[in-house]
Amino acid sequence: TGLSSWITRRAVRTPDALALVDATTGASSTYAQMAATCARRAAALRTRGVRRGDRVMVIGLNSTAQLETLFAAARLGAITVPVNFRLSPDEIAYLISDSTPTLLLHDDMFAELAAGAADAAPHHVDLVHLDALDEPEAAFGDEEPVRDDDVALIMYTSGTTGKPKGAMLTHGNLEANAVNILTAGEGLTPKDSTLAVAPLFHIGGLALYVLPMLFTGGAVVVAPAFDPAGTLQLLAKHRITVHFMVPAMWDAMSKVPDFDDADLSALRCLLCGGAPCPLPVIDFYQDKGLTFMEGFGMTELSPAAAILEAQYVRSHAGSVGRAVPLSDVRIVDGDDREVLAGEVGELLISGPNVFVGYWGLPAVTAQEKRGGWFHTGDLARMDEDGFITLVDRKKDMIVTGGENVYPIEVEQVLYTHPDVDDAAVIGLPDETWGEGVTAVIALREGASTTAEDLITYCRERIAHFKSPRRVEFVDVLPRNATGKLLKRDLRERYGSSAS
Ligand code: ATP
Ligand code: MG
Repeated sequence: TGLSSWITRRAVRTPDALALVDATTGASSTYAQMAATCARRAAALRTRGVRRGDRVMVIGLNSTAQLETLFAAARLGAITVPVNFRLSPDEIAYLISDSTPTLLLHDDMFAELAAGAADAAPHHVDLVHLDALDEPEAAFGDEEPVRDDDVALIMYTSGTTGKPKGAMLTHGNLEANAVNILTAGEGLTPKDSTLAVAPLFHIGGLALYVLPMLFTGGAVVVAPAFDPAGTLQLLAKHRITVHFMVPAMWDAMSKVPDFDDADLSALRCLLCGGAPCPLPVIDFYQDKGLTFMEGFGMTELSPAAAILEAQYVRSHAGSVGRAVPLSDVRIVDGDDREVLAGEVGELLISGPNVFVGYWGLPAVTAQEKRGGWFHTGDLARMDEDGFITLVDRKKDMIVTGGENVYPIEVEQVLYTHPDVDDAAVIGLPDETWGEGVTAVIALREGASTTAEDLITYCRERIAHFKSPRRVEFVDVLPRNATGKLLKRDLRERYGSSAS
């Protein structure tokens, strides 16, 4: 078992099948070649002191070297810690002090960032270039026996609701996710190929199609970074068959001029997840005759938890679909009692894809994983057929005058206003109401809509208690790389200042 055996097994069964392609140089490797490279890289890691259970931090643009090194570390029973290169040296230094890696691996692009972070970190970490690990003369070591419940990855969450938490994902977790992706929705076979263009330091970029693809023996084309027109071209050029991106990427790609010139006839399945996908984006791809699925996932779930198959995307618009094959789902109230179909409660998930815990945070782990279920912190409804609709994050729910308000519902009303470019709805402390519904709005250029106008607009469409009592205007709203609104920043900014 274990990640490394995925590749060695494929190297025996389909040695000549294409495993990895570098989209920039065109260099490619078969499974036999990839297995050899992983063994060499494992030997190089061992030479540099990496042992079972040690952490190996990686920072870089998407590359085949990164994937090979992940499997090489897994071969030694070591733990890979991918890091977001958009973080500052101090933020990365915090992650170094948190996960205490033996090595910090980096590429050309982020050599300086890695050095800065290593300098700022409280304990020593060796800096090693990813390319330096591919030593032709390295002696192959044996594969370390790895158990299903050994940790393979520490994947930091996106940090939308607080400091990023290091979710420990085991070999078994990632294998369960691979089985889920192979069997859910449109499935996956060794004939498939995917483009690794969503960042590999987020679980969606790494594990939605890329890892399951290598598990099943298909091909992964790796692109260093996303640009809308370039990505469209690569999908056509490499005749990619299945592809995952987050909504903001699908949206940007839909706006490429001459979109229709790209030959996407090989593309049999598009998958969007990580944040809610706007309907016009879904419509754009479906109108082109493409199969567009939505998925719900979390870092802690390795990541896939639910998939909305293409045939339901229109009939069940707004739903994230049904649980993946190996997962069970419950919706519960504040006392962990199951609610009736259609009622809102917290989404709980169990299954072999659920992470073992947060690195260094046993108390948080125990709080979120209790009674055999992972408490996702997401509020959702489930209908009688098992279709799940996310309502909002538990932490973002507003209680005003004793009524629950789900900000996303209010935001969706605001989005329909022609002058509103972007909107965030938050609850702020209010003497009379407990919390007051506050809208933070970015208007389209040249628009002159007032706070009064927007409040009236909402009151004409939803209940008064849900409508904003206060409106603040900004140029742009704070969003993270996935496109998620950073509401904690807004609550901090406006929390103390009265309107
Ligand atoms: P943190 O846990 O650090 O606050 P995060 O929860 O944003 O950050 P991720 O694990 O990357 O970190 O994201 C998981 C969350 O993303 C889910 O809990 C859910 O709120 C949201 N999400 C994922 N997929 C979808 C989707 N299809 N539609 C709406 N929301 C989604
Ligand atoms: Mg989260």
